[in-house]
Amino acid sequence: MDRRNFLKIGAAGTAAASLGLATGFSPDPRKKEIEAKTRLDVKGYVSEPARKIPVVDAADIVVLGGGPAGVAAAVSAARQGLDVILLEREYYLGGLWTGCCVLPVNNTSGLLKNGKWGQVIYGFSDEICSRLASMGLSVTIKGDTPVPDPEAAKYVMELMLGEAGVRLLYNCQGAGVILSGDRIDAVLVESKSGRVAIKAKAVVDCSGDGDILEWAGEDFELRKAHIGAMWRCGNAADFKRRGVHKTPIDSVKLFHTNGEYDQDGLDIYNLTRLQLKMRKHMWDTLEKDRQLPGGENLFLLDSTTLLGVRVTRVLNSVRNVTYADSVRYASYADCVGVAGADNSLKYSGGTLPGKKRPVWQLPYSAITPKRIPNLLVAGRCFGFDKDLTYDAREVGTCFLTGQAAGTAAALSLLDRCSVQEVNIARLQARLAEGGVRFDM
Ligand SMILES: Cc1cc2nc3c(=O)[nH]c(=O)nc-3n(C[C@H](O)[C@H](O)[C@H](O)COP(=O)(O)OP(=O)(O)OC[C@H]3O[C@@H](n4cnc5c(N)ncnc54)[C@H](O)[C@@H]3O)c2cc1C
Repeated sequence: MDRRNFLKIGAAGTAAASLGLATGFSPDPRKKEIEAKTRLDVKGYVSEPARKIPVVDAADIVVLGGGPAGVAAAVSAARQGLDVILLEREYYLGGLWTGCCVLPVNNTSGLLKNGKWGQVIYGFSDEICSRLASMGLSVTIKGDTPVPDPEAAKYVMELMLGEAGVRLLYNCQGAGVILSGDRIDAVLVESKSGRVAIKAKAVVDCSGDGDILEWAGEDFELRKAHIGAMWRCGNAADFKRRGVHKTPIDSVKLFHTNGEYDQDGLDIYNLTRLQLKMRKHMWDTLEKDRQLPGGENLFLLDSTTLLGVRVTRVLNSVRNVTYADSVRYASYADCVGVAGADNSLKYSGGTLPGKKRPVWQLPYSAITPKRIPNLLVAGRCFGFDKDLTYDAREVGTCFLTGQAAGTAAALSLLDRCSVQEVNIARLQARLAEGGVRFDM
């Protein structure tokens, strides 16, 4: 991170400077190791006294993170008849989908084996998108990409969790895990009720950032990508320019910036710097857009509550999905669904145009960690190679990985086996009952 740039930015910069000037910390020989973990410039150490943490709840399955992957995972696990708790730090569901207004549900379709274009992600994704469409609060762009209203999406997700019997807890920031050998025994949570523990028989990491992966000591890779922002403006019915998209509400349009490239999404100084920069960018852009035809009465409707962090920790799974496999209709015996591919993809070998991208199978092994027997991983932190970074984490795929992970976590408990030993035929049958299709 460029600390000097950060310091230029007013109030938050002052906080950083005062941290930098603080004295009286004791040195620690593990400085390098700790700095790598915190990704911050560590000034010294304080010791936290050991304390007993109250266990306030227990569930068969605890899902951490209520983004697209977490909601799909929690609903799918509960539909298998298990007791599920979903922990979310914010006061709404949808993660970046609703909280950063990344509304288009990409990658539900792609080029099929028969050379035709077609939808491949069904199941939970189809269910939620159809429900939003039936409320008149979803439109379609690029032919078949659903774009919902974020408030409607938040509401529908809460309804779906309620109907499935998932126990939802907001204001719960996951803060660690308690291990018993290799097994996760409990998830630690910071909240307005204090630091509490929730016991779990199985856990699904849907934090987007793979928080549990690191706490549990599982194998992962830390990646950087561009961190940007999306925002919505009102009075925009007659406003048109590149990078501005329609939403289900005529007078509201969606705006977007790619932001800064190659950014660390786990460094709080960097995240604060970018958030300040993005908000300024929104206001500066609004001022310019108001000078354009149709933009005279634009107003900023929301600056969104989540910064646009695309990728951070990614699981080194039993078998990561590779770019090579994703473009050759590779089939896996442990296939748990088919992902679409409707965007052009930048990878190390160049750019593959959207309309030429084959659909690809999702292997169960890509959401399965190598070591922890009661952890599955879904959403933008499941196992995919670097060349798929700009693609494998789109909302459609997050729904798909979430449904697979939630169903598999449930099956591992029902069959009393580790997640690595789940019976694939039984898993595929349950996913098919949930609407998932496997044909390419
Ligand atoms: C700027 C930008 C534009 C994008 N555009 C599109 C697009 O047009 N179409 C598309 O399909 N995809 C797009 N994406 C990608 C897509 O939005 C994300 O990859 C997807 O939302 C990831 O879903 P997820 O459930 O894995 O994680 P997230 O959406 O990140 O959700 C994670 C959830 O976990 C919660 N959480 C995190 N850590 C903790 C914790 N420790 N304790 C408790 N809760 C926690 C968060 O609050 C959040 O609710 C875009 C992404 C960005 C950043």
